[in-house]
Amino acid sequence: MSRPITATIHAGAMHHNLATVRTRAPSSRVMAMVKADGYGHGLETAVSALRDADAFGVAAIEDAQRIRALGLSQPILVLSGFDSVEDLDQLRRLRADSIVHHPAQLDMLEQADGAPIRCWLKIDTGMHRLGFAPDRVREAHARLGAARGVEGDIVLMSHFASSDEFEGGSDHGRQTRRQLQVFADATAGLPGPRSLANSAAILGWPGSHGDWVRPGGALFGMSVVHGRPASDFGLQPAMTFATRLLAVNQIGKGEPIGYSATWETPEDMRLGVAAVGYGDGYPRLAPAGTPVLVNGTPAQVVGRVSMDLMTIDLRGHPDARAGDPVVLWGAGLPIESVADAAGTIAYELTCSITRRVRFVES
Ligand SMILES: *Cc1c(COP(=O)(O)O)cnc(C)c1O
Repeated sequence: MSRPITATIHAGAMHHNLATVRTRAPSSRVMAMVKADGYGHGLETAVSALRDADAFGVAAIEDAQRIRALGLSQPILVLSGFDSVEDLDQLRRLRADSIVHHPAQLDMLEQADGAPIRCWLKIDTGMHRLGFAPDRVREAHARLGAARGVEGDIVLMSHFASSDEFEGGSDHGRQTRRQLQVFADATAGLPGPRSLANSAAILGWPGSHGDWVRPGGALFGMSVVHGRPASDFGLQPAMTFATRLLAVNQIGKGEPIGYSATWETPEDMRLGVAAVGYGDGYPRLAPAGTPVLVNGTPAQVVGRVSMDLMTIDLRGHPDARAGDPVVLWGAGLPIESVADAAGTIAYELTCSITRRVRFVES
């Protein structure tokens, strides 16, 4: 038999989520972040559903190529930028924009021959990943402005580390407030559009919106704030991950279930075996108690998740039988509840789905 496991991608939900983001940030243009194959939803599917976005953000030049192949003409920002003349040539050919985060890139743009490209100047306001230190921003900006490899407005951008802590009590949001201040000081008086806000900042820090917002998770209907499902913000899940029961067995009391016998039947009970495992991208660390839906009703994972299979407590599901549908997350079961149980975030779950899962569009 072929495996009954599917990831159904809801284009309508993405479309709705983009409209929701626009309502939240009415004066900003929206760059849809679709890195990591559209957060695991499939780049082409995501971009097609989000074709009304004002721009797209990707991690790699190859992704920009895939978007152009769909015939879309919006700006595409390549987050990793370039580190060779060949990269620069490709960016030009694809009419893609680049992040500039490092002095070596300034050298290359000053020496470039060939058509100029548009640049987004990345400022490290306190996350300490990529970007120019605040006291180097003016010099970098001046060099970019004069470089022959650069055209158009230079966008001033930064990225938040903790914008999921919304503005509130004294300690809350301190890092974001500080990053906003560092950004304002570093860019004061410089011309050009501003871009700071990821999904959480779009929802919780309206003062950060600027000229371009850059939502990722929100477009896929995933929670961006700990303890609050995406539905709290009117967002709809863009993926339903589902499979079927392969078997339903009656097991006696006190029997060990699965690898390493991590769970034991507390009574005589019915146990479901579902066709899904970590080989499909379901988190192996999901403990007993992680929620699923069997025939649309809540049930729980028990025992250790294995490569192809996992076991489900079917007490309270007297009618469940082999072939019945099991929803792992998505419509009717917030992905956040699964991520919380497994000690991770929703983003990692959708990004971890493996190639053997069949993707379906709805
Ligand atoms: C991924 C990413 C985003 C989007 O973040 P979300 O939390 O998914 O909204 C925005 N900006 C940059 C630079 C990113 O890498």
